[in-house]
Amino acid sequence: MDVLTDHEKTSLVDAAIEARQWAYAPYSHYLVGAALLTTSGRIYDGVNVENAAYPSGMCAERVAIFKAVSQGERNFSAIAVVTSNGGYPCGACRQVMAEFGLETIVIIANDKGEIIRETDVSGILPGAFTPEHLNNP
Ligand SMILES: [Zn+2]
Repeated sequence: MDVLTDHEKTSLVDAAIEARQWAYAPYSHYLVGAALLTTSGRIYDGVNVENAAYPSGMCAERVAIFKAVSQGERNFSAIAVVTSNGGYPCGACRQVMAEFGLETIVIIANDKGEIIRETDVSGILPGAFTPEHLNNP
């Protein structure tokens, strides 16, 4: 697991808090903000976007990751996820994180900026199915 400076952690959590105001969550009212730090030093944010047809919505973490990938980024240092109460990423988001590396730092924080847990993708998705499984059948 790479190490982030305290300043990097704070910046990433702050970016997730800032993004969270744009969450579109009229059904759950559970606002989520995410901020993804790439190894190139850029930050891509994301929010949850719900839909009247519930399964059509998307989580904040995957929005951030997909934004980054669609800009040509595939190497991630860390992702911060902010909710009112320090909720963890869902299973689908953990799987998408694993696609791009089990070493990516995951910071779970609340809306006060308090870090609830700092781990990496392997820490929240033990036994992950990764691209290597397809490459080495
Ligand atoms: Zn999710």
